[in-house]
Amino acid sequence: MKRISILGSTGSIGRSTLDVVDAFGDELSVAGLAAGGNLDLLAEQVRRYRPELVSVRSERDIEPLRARIGSDIEIVHGAEGASAVASLDSADCVIAAIVGAAGIPPVHAALMRGKRVAIANKEVLVAAGDVMTRAAREHGGEILPVDSEHNAVHQALRSGTEREVARIILTASGGPFLRRELSTFGDISIDAALAHPTWKMGNKISIDSATMMNKGLEVIEAHHLFATHVDRIDILIHPQSIVHSMVEYIDGSIIAQLSATDMKFPIQYALFYPDRRESSFARLDLAKIRSLEFQPVDPQRFPAVALAYAASREGGSMPAVLNAANEIAVERFLAGELPFNGIVELVSRVLDRHAGNVAPIDSVGDALAWDGWARNEARGIDVAVAR
Ligand code: NDP
Repeated sequence: MKRISILGSTGSIGRSTLDVVDAFGDELSVAGLAAGGNLDLLAEQVRRYRPELVSVRSERDIEPLRARIGSDIEIVHGAEGASAVASLDSADCVIAAIVGAAGIPPVHAALMRGKRVAIANKEVLVAAGDVMTRAAREHGGEILPVDSEHNAVHQALRSGTEREVARIILTASGGPFLRRELSTFGDISIDAALAHPTWKMGNKISIDSATMMNKGLEVIEAHHLFATHVDRIDILIHPQSIVHSMVEYIDGSIIAQLSATDMKFPIQYALFYPDRRESSFARLDLAKIRSLEFQPVDPQRFPAVALAYAASREGGSMPAVLNAANEIAVERFLAGELPFNGIVELVSRVLDRHAGNVAPIDSVGDALAWDGWARNEARGIDVAVAR
């Protein structure tokens, strides 16, 4: 029996992970759960999966959660609590599915304990990728990608050696505004931006997909996961989200991974790797899909992509600043404080303020310090984008 700890169990990835646990009930069980503030769902999960440790974001939620679950299970809180769930002795694998930089401490804690971390929480790698890969290397930990694109690359890389790889090609759906008139981007409503055409995901990643900052973050994520410079990582728009990504080899062969648009596939892969298990999840029917389209990214429509490449080339604290500024920009858009095209504008202004002060990120503390700096800056800047 493989035991897993789930960070972000009440979210979209967390719930899909529990679906995979249900499907493999005789092979998988839950060691620990960490979530934010959705106490009703967390209580339901605790009653059903009986973890040995549970963590909530805030201390004041401990007693209300205890009242809901009616048992004396240990409940902890905050970054330390999530880190305790991530480091449980009994956990063979940790699913990292908290949203945002809040995932940095627990992912680091898991890697320092030599765990396998199946990572969906890309912001952790963007903000502190070198720290995480070093922790894994030095303490026997392992990072396996759950993000569907990186999971696809991981699978495609099994077709050749490192020296045979020419480039990585990440596919992108293009989000809900791939064909929308550019002059109307200032009028985009919150509901329209949340309505992703192919995936049902949490709010933050849905907005990131609409601006395509998500793909920019994924380029940086791929750089850390596959030790590949971003100049050898390309993006191709593929509106159907069926080809999840590809690897081009030096002989010109391209190996792609295809599956249904369902996160249970990459989660299952990461949990059982290097084995494959027969699964009962709905399969892809290519004859029904009939056609797969591809097109280049329009940099004018999606300026976030160039910002992310530039931040990665600059390195050091720049990607952490990009990530934190983006988290606040998305939060402010969702609060009605920014127009849609103000999101990337705000991130760009914070990056400009950081230029000239880029510092190395050698520890979790460094990453969190720059994260905090960028959040403050992003909260304080007024962005009025012409509508
Ligand atoms: P959701 O918003 O659906 O879920 C986020 C989870 O994180 C919730 O369980 C939430 O708890 C928890 N959480 C938030 N803040 C904290 C905190 N400070 N401490 C503890 N828990 C916290 O997001 P998704 O599941 O969509 O995404 C999770 C991550 O996976 C993101 O980094 C995203 O980019 C990545 N990802 C998601 C994909 C998807 O298909 N959804 C695909 C690929 C990557 P609560 O709800 O209880 O407050």
